[in-house]
Amino acid sequence: MTLRDRTRIRPFFLNPSISNLFSALSIALMTPLAIKNLFFGKYVLSLLILLFIVAIITRMLAIKAGKEAQLTGVVVLVLMVATNLASIHYLGLYGVFWIYPSAIVCFFLLPRATANLFALSLTGLTAAMSWPMLDHQIVIRLVASAGLTILFLNVAVGVISSQETRLIKQSLLDPLTGVFNRRHMETCLRDATDQFSDGGQTATLLLIDIDNFKSINDRFGHTTGDAVICEVADLLMQNSAGTAPLFRLGGEEFILLLDKSDSKTAMLRAEKLRRIIERADILTGRPVSVSIGVAEVRADQSTSHWIRDADKALYLAKNSGRNQVRCA
Ligand code: GH3
Ligand code: MG
Ligand code: MG
Repeated sequence: MTLRDRTRIRPFFLNPSISNLFSALSIALMTPLAIKNLFFGKYVLSLLILLFIVAIITRMLAIKAGKEAQLTGVVVLVLMVATNLASIHYLGLYGVFWIYPSAIVCFFLLPRATANLFALSLTGLTAAMSWPMLDHQIVIRLVASAGLTILFLNVAVGVISSQETRLIKQSLLDPLTGVFNRRHMETCLRDATDQFSDGGQTATLLLIDIDNFKSINDRFGHTTGDAVICEVADLLMQNSAGTAPLFRLGGEEFILLLDKSDSKTAMLRAEKLRRIIERADILTGRPVSVSIGVAEVRADQSTSHWIRDADKALYLAKNSGRNQVRCA
């Protein structure tokens, strides 16, 4: 599972606010063109532009309603390609220049692979259509310059995506363990409490603390202590199977957020994790275990109160002899 899947952060190029800006600009530019072509009797071209505008508005509404806009993106691009070809049919050389902004738009509407497919198809169809109509030298230069535009777009998307991934890592991940940091935890827990208060599904958090960790540091040193923290984090990550986000609260404490889980289901998961850590051979000659406090979210509860509930349960687990799971 990639970091993007885990964070559900959209790539910069497919960000809804940027997509909406492009949509608004396209509508502002295309509406006068639709009217102009209608006025000059180019009805098919005018109709295609109007359909293109309607598709853009539909897509904007879909984004506003929070619905996945992949299909509407495809519809917009199909109409855009058709409009491009119609403008070449009607205007000849004067119609081919739209190929450049159109190729750019592809990358703001759809993921890179599909965007390339549309941009390259548009270039190929434009070349095929203009070949019998235009000077071949012009068509060759058109294809070469459109090809270069698409290549540069790919470089730009690649560079921006890798910078974005680096920023996401820096701002959301804990540098020692690679699990999510406390800042991201605040956001995710707040989303879960808000969702539950709005009548959504329940959620449960597990507060996981390594037992007697100070003595591990004292006996084996801080570096080994760090390695133990990392090993426990890895085991928790691997065994939450990508279904639940794991956060490092600080020191040797972690929080696992179980979406759509009540405390009963969460207790079973917690017990399974406790056993996995207990059985893993993390340190030779010294057993490593964790205690886990489980707390289901309550209506209108703040995130700090939710964590406090889990902390009380963890305290019970510690007081009952450690290496245990307790529920709030
Ligand atoms: P308990 O079973 O009650 O949890 O006992 P404990 O010894 O684990 O107690 P506590 O949770 O209070 O101890 C946490 C220790 O973890 C204290 C601190 O020195 C150490 N620590 C905090 N952050 C780090 C870190 O990043 N690396 C290492 N190696 N140790 C850390
Ligand atoms: Mg602790
Ligand atoms: Mg501890």
